[in-house]
Amino acid sequence: MDSASGEVAPLEPRDAGRLSVYLCGPTVSGPPHVGHGRVTLVWDILRRYLTWNGLDVRFVSNVTDIEDKIIAAAAEERMPAEEVAARYERLWWETTDALGVARPDVAPHATAYLEEMEELIGRLIAGGHAYEGGDGVYFSTSSIDGYGLLARQGLESLRAGARVEPAEEAGKRSPLDFVLWKRAKPGEPSWASPWGEGRPGWHTECVVMSLGLLGEGFDLHLGGLDLAFPHHENERAQAVAAGWGFARRWAHNGMVVDERGDKMSKSVGNITSLPGLLQRYEGRALRALVLNAHYRSPMAVTIDALDSAKGTLERLDNFAREAREWPTVGPDASVLARFRWRMDDDLDTHGALSVILGAVRDARAHPDRAPALAAAVRECCEGALGLPLAFQEEGLDPAVAELVRQRDASRGRGDYREADALRDKLVEMGYVVEDTPAGTRARRAR
Ligand SMILES: [Zn+2]
Repeated sequence: MDSASGEVAPLEPRDAGRLSVYLCGPTVSGPPHVGHGRVTLVWDILRRYLTWNGLDVRFVSNVTDIEDKIIAAAAEERMPAEEVAARYERLWWETTDALGVARPDVAPHATAYLEEMEELIGRLIAGGHAYEGGDGVYFSTSSIDGYGLLARQGLESLRAGARVEPAEEAGKRSPLDFVLWKRAKPGEPSWASPWGEGRPGWHTECVVMSLGLLGEGFDLHLGGLDLAFPHHENERAQAVAAGWGFARRWAHNGMVVDERGDKMSKSVGNITSLPGLLQRYEGRALRALVLNAHYRSPMAVTIDALDSAKGTLERLDNFAREAREWPTVGPDASVLARFRWRMDDDLDTHGALSVILGAVRDARAHPDRAPALAAAVRECCEGALGLPLAFQEEGLDPAVAELVRQRDASRGRGDYREADALRDKLVEMGYVVEDTPAGTRARRAR
């Protein structure tokens, strides 16, 4: 759904066959939380699906490596701000890799775009859209028409709801105005500018990075719903004031909530961070959970929900393992068509997942069609959704294969104590052990 018009609109690329996409990336001031997991997964799924459909997707997502929160973390951890940013950026990529999220084609850093930001701020001041206040440069939100488009509210109601500003932003003329350049306090990281030593405002970096890398009128600007206002609105306002064509479409994903439906970005059970969650669940489980929800709806991430997503995955993996023995044929066309029909309807991944699970049921009921149905399930999951399944036998380490053989032998003798001990040993080595009619199956825990 296009957040600017409030309607589901067709995606018509600026350049035929290509899609230019910008996703607001992380501020690297701490470990990623569960909300970050959802944002990256939702848009990774969209990107993979569009690519699978033959579009050439150029995906840009920034890294905010200078911001108040990084400075605060640096003070707390008693280390330079650049080190804090570098450390949490490393953790960010490790975590998103573990989630199976493809890295962006370009991941620009805010600190590499100081010159462009300075140019934009100069242009806004010259055009009468920005002014110098007590402690920096501010954007005048009343200087453009249509401020509040993405908040889907007019200027008046936004002004009435604006929070009381802290004293340090006392230089503002209106509570809705926002900072473009913030003068540095002693000891803070800073860059020289015509408006004194300081650092850029967060809203300014995305404007210059998205337009710099994707060009005017790029296709799609993405992010979490919490960024629609004020962050995205303020990006848009600057582009409008500068006279530049900005994103043609906007899409926002819903927030992660707890079991009571309250916004939650930190704790699931007693797990407080995304890396913590990934120690307990494989990345595929969170992807399955994300697929099961509509991207615009709030999504509860609870232990029960994760366990149920894990159960869905197990069902799919078991089916994929059975399918290893089946002949290779082309994918069932009607499953692919129904899958596409769901996905093309505002990314209805929940519906698409039902099509996939329906194909698994059909394969059980109609063995003659099973190979084609399995090929379609594989195509949809692995090709379009980024969800690899157990279609291929993982090569087992010979030592592991030997333990598996020994366990089957001890079970054959009825020596269940030894069989249990061997299972424990395999689990300790990082394997998931299953008893199947064909004997012990071990696969690496992901
Ligand atoms: Zn942004």
